[in-house]
Order: sequence, then C-alpha cells, then structure tokens
Amino acid sequence: MNNEFIMQMRPLFGEEEKKAICEYMDEDGFITEFKRTEKFEQMIAEYTGAKHCVVVNNGTISLTLAAMAAGIKSDDEVIVPNYTMIATPNSVKMFGAVPVFVDVEPDTLCLDIEKVKSAITEKTKAIILVSANGRYPKPGINAFEKLASDNNLALIEDAAQSLGSYYPDGRHIGKAGVIGSFSFSAPKIISTGQGGALITDNDEIAYKLRRLKDFGRSGGGNDIHDSIGFNFKFTELQACIGIEQMKKLQLRVERKKEILSRYQHHLTGVDEVNFFDQDLECTTPWFIDVLVENRDALQLFLKESGIGTRVMYPPINEQEAYRVSGEHPVSQSIGQKGLWLPSAVQLTDEQIDYVCGKIKEFYEVSN
Ligand SMILES: *Cc1c(COP(=O)(O)O)cnc(C)c1O
Repeated sequence: MNNEFIMQMRPLFGEEEKKAICEYMDEDGFITEFKRTEKFEQMIAEYTGAKHCVVVNNGTISLTLAAMAAGIKSDDEVIVPNYTMIATPNSVKMFGAVPVFVDVEPDTLCLDIEKVKSAITEKTKAIILVSANGRYPKPGINAFEKLASDNNLALIEDAAQSLGSYYPDGRHIGKAGVIGSFSFSAPKIISTGQGGALITDNDEIAYKLRRLKDFGRSGGGNDIHDSIGFNFKFTELQACIGIEQMKKLQLRVERKKEILSRYQHHLTGVDEVNFFDQDLECTTPWFIDVLVENRDALQLFLKESGIGTRVMYPPINEQEAYRVSGEHPVSQSIGQKGLWLPSAVQLTDEQIDYVCGKIKEFYEVSN
C-alpha cells in the first residue's frame, strides 16, 4: 500500500463537476441562482419524496430559517440534543431563541424522548431532532411526532448527516418534521463546498422559506416587501456541482454502508472499540463513529501510522460558548470516548484493513 496519509474525511469531486461548471460559464449566466438551482432543488425533492425543496447557503442558516418559518421567536425555548454539531443550537440562538440541551440515547445518539418530555415547559415551542449519523431514535419517529403534536410543538429535523437515510416506514429522514434540513458542507455525503437544503410538504411554509431567503420579496426580482427577509441565496456554480453530486449519491450510499460493515467485521471482538446501533437496511452511516478506550493515545498512535481521526462533538452544555449546568451522562461519555475513524467515501478496502490492523496492534489484539 502506498504511504499517503489517510484523512479522516475528504470531499470528492470529479471531472463531471468541473465540466458542468465550464459548460455553465460558457453560457453567459448571472451565476446567481436560477435554472440549475431549480434543477438541484427538484432532484433533492424527488430523492427525499418531499413536495418542496428550498436551497440556501448552508446547513446552519437552513435551520435558522426553518425555525423562523415554523413561527419560533426570540425567548422561545427550543429543545436540542446535547450531542450535536454546535450549529444546531446556534441556529436558533442567532435570533434570540433559547436552546435547551437534552441528553441523547446511548445506542443512537439521537434525543432521548423521556428526557425531552421532562424538559418541556410552557415556553417550549419546538424540538430540533438531529438524526445523528443518519440514525433515528429508538422509540421510533412516530413517538416524536405524537409528542410534538400533543404539546403543540414544531418538530424540525436537522438531517444534515442523513441524506440517503430512511425511517423504517419508508419515509426519507427529514420528512417527518414540519421542515427537514440538510447540509452540503465539505464533509457531508455530497457537497457543494457550502450549502443547505430545506424540505417540506407544507405549501405555506415553503412560500415563507422562499421569502425569508430573498429579502422578503413578494415576487421574483421585485422590490416590494411586505415581510422581513434576508439574503441566504444559493449560486448556480454550487448548483452545477450539486447536480453532479446528486447523480453520485446512490453509489456513495452503498459504499458508506460497505465501509461500516468492513470496519465492524474486522473490529468485532476488540473489546476496547464499540460501535453504535446502525440500521444498515434503512440508514447510511455518514461517518464511522465509535467509542474507544484510551482515546488520546490511540489517536496519536494512529496519527503516527499515517491515519487521521477526529474527536466526536464534546457535550454542548460544557462548551465555553454556552456553559450551562446539567447532568448529561451519555453526551459526556461521548466527549471522553467518541472517535471518528477514517470515513471518506473514497477509502479503499485495503486502507480500511490497514486502519483496523493498526487499531488491533494498539490494543495488542492478535490480527
Ligand atoms: C454539518 C451540520 C450542520 C451545519 O451545516 P453547515 O452546512 O456546515 O452550516 C448542522 N447540523 C448538523 C447535525 C451537522 O452535521
């Protein structure tokens, strides 16, 4: 095997993306969002089975707009998992809403529904459910849908890590909430450099989202504003890339599943490495996430062997940006033991075998 450093993740773009951009540039377009963007939106709507898709400039703003379109206002409480990318709480903090951190389930790292129930107050207006690594919560999505409707809360799905993942009832993840949000940042399963998408079946919400991202314009290109809006639009160059990436999505979904299976095959029996509960029938592991013993030493050992890893998200309530007290044992243990192994879609079988061999060497398990 060659000695190239194995990065934990790396986006993958090819000749097709390059060609699509060159073709577009020969057309004398405006680069601002137009036909290519519409096509990209249609492809996502079709893939996820949603009535509407609205793309925006990233997967954080998409959550901000989702919350605004769902009627969340400043000082409203929004329940978010204590294990997630910081973008989830920050997206509502942005307009003065209050993220309330709730611990996650140990098997899936999705919100723990019993703990969500005890966190609901009369100020709670929404739940942002994060499908961590494409997974869905154990009690089932219906339990969350019921909880939200019984308490008159908006269920918003942060499905940033879940393109290509489904609920067991066949719905694409992101379809259960009033709005589902995706991200196309560099590490995600497909990327446009930066980018986000919102899906919804609700016509009124879709209309609100389109106005929110375009200055509150009452019609395309005019300057008549009867509501407040901003500028979170996409560009045709990103759409050119996105269209080509969407064509590759299905192959990536299959490969990501093979990658996890191969890691699991090699590492079962290594007591110091523990996988989460990934339902490979329905969901697509975006990253290879594991709990490991002696994490820092393992990470260093792997680095010296030419292997990149990444520490999983620390508990958000302990981050300096928030610093709120609370007992969240699951997210705290992820903060101590959670590690992402190399997860790029272009990883070869040979590279996976090499990584697993090195992990076994570290724990002195015979190969
Ligand atoms: C990546 C990610 C985001 C943020 O998306 P950006 O496009 O980087 O803004 C939000 N939530 C989760 C769960 C993510 O993984």
